Amino acid sequence: MRSLPILLLCVTVCSTYPLDAASRGEDTSMELLQKYLENYYGLVKDGIQFVRRKDSSPVVKKIQEMQKFLGLEMTGKLDSNTLEMIHKPRCGVPDVGHFSTFPGMPKWRKNHLTYRIVNYTPDLPRDAVDSAIEKALKVWEEVTPLTFSRVHEGEADIMISFAVREHGDFIPFDGPGYNLAHAYAPGPGINGDAHFDDDEQWTKDTSGINLFLVAAHELGHSLGLLHSDNPEALMYPVYDSFVDLAGFHLSQDDVDGIQSLYGPAPVTTQDPVVPTESSPSDPGQDSPPTMCDPALSFDAVSTLRGEILFFKDRHFWRKSLRTFEPEFYLISSFWPSLPSSVDAACEVTSKDTVFIFKGNQFWAIRGHEVQAGYPRSIYTLGFPPTVRKIDAAISDKEKKKTYFFVEDKYWRFDEKSQSMEPGFPRQVAKDFPGVDSKVDAVFEAFGFFYFFNGSSQLEFDPNAKKVTHVLKSNNWLNC
Ligand SMILES: [Zn+2]
Ligand SMILES: [Zn+2]
Repeated sequence: MRSLPILLLCVTVCSTYPLDAASRGEDTSMELLQKYLENYYGLVKDGIQFVRRKDSSPVVKKIQEMQKFLGLEMTGKLDSNTLEMIHKPRCGVPDVGHFSTFPGMPKWRKNHLTYRIVNYTPDLPRDAVDSAIEKALKVWEEVTPLTFSRVHEGEADIMISFAVREHGDFIPFDGPGYNLAHAYAPGPGINGDAHFDDDEQWTKDTSGINLFLVAAHELGHSLGLLHSDNPEALMYPVYDSFVDLAGFHLSQDDVDGIQSLYGPAPVTTQDPVVPTESSPSDPGQDSPPTMCDPALSFDAVSTLRGEILFFKDRHFWRKSLRTFEPEFYLISSFWPSLPSSVDAACEVTSKDTVFIFKGNQFWAIRGHEVQAGYPRSIYTLGFPPTVRKIDAAISDKEKKKTYFFVEDKYWRFDEKSQSMEPGFPRQVAKDFPGVDSKVDAVFEAFGFFYFFNGSSQLEFDPNAKKVTHVLKSNNWLNC
């Protein structure tokens, strides 16, 4: 409650004096600068407007300190760049002082942490909040040995909540704009917790304030990071609405920071490099596949809202039927919580969802969002325990049936009754004559099923029940 009385006082003073518009604007900017320096740079709050102070040198020093931190020219004055900067939405955690006064470098003494979403903003559907938080945690999980699990009741290490104005921790929020959120350094009780100002318009995209971006930043504080003065860093204090969400990644500065506390991610055993038959000499997952390599095979292929996705190792090609050139992305840049080297993928258009399979788990994605509550076990779909992985999947939108290919057999799932159909598995070669080898991937286009095996592709007419063309696998990529 310390900054609020000052603000109210200023409003009263300003409205008492009939000032002309220009000087009123200047006054408001000075008040904003004063609050900025008090809130984020440790300027002593003594209730005196600093324009009226006798000695301005401490203020000039603070302005320079702030300009230095934010990468502005150190003029010590409220120039236009500084004015523009202090109007931008930002994190409520100070850029100096505060956590650095804690003894030692606060960090979690364990690698497995719990989090709880205590309440929700009315701005977004709950699952959008859930998945923004999951994605934000994943950002840190990927570069550290830390893991997170969600709890729904009781005290979690990281309690996440939305609140307005005064909300019980003596650091009130300030209404729309400016201060967006704050979080506490690791420790018990309120430490580790993240609070989001619900007077902001939280959005999935960047039309309002993007929840994922702010959450990823705040969770950096929850894990022990302070602000960075590197404008490229996620931990830079000022919110950047122009960031490329699809291509989001931590800066090296963020990675160095968090790894100085927890070390790097262990070499994972859950995500082994599975050599594929087409590329026995693959020098490793870091070398991206070559689109027009005649030996190119795919892990999985699926449609997504009228486009076709071709998955390979850590990447995928996205092919729109309207544009000629396929686009190439890292899977993690679109869906950070998805694994690499997936087994199968299929779109269920009636649900506007693409299901992604790997091992005995599956994920659901809708556009850019990995749905909350996943991964789930494939056994919830009705597979017997002998099935360890699915090779390929396709959903027939007309008949509302999803086909799962496992070795030389296939299962059929009824989307209406949400259950596996009786009488399965059946032999692939019997019901899909001509498709007699193991299937890597399958998808549907123009009423045909396209089956992929290694570097070749079969076009299958499901009505005539025969193979109509034999093509190269990368035929769709204009090779
Ligand atoms: Zn911050
Ligand atoms: Zn708070």
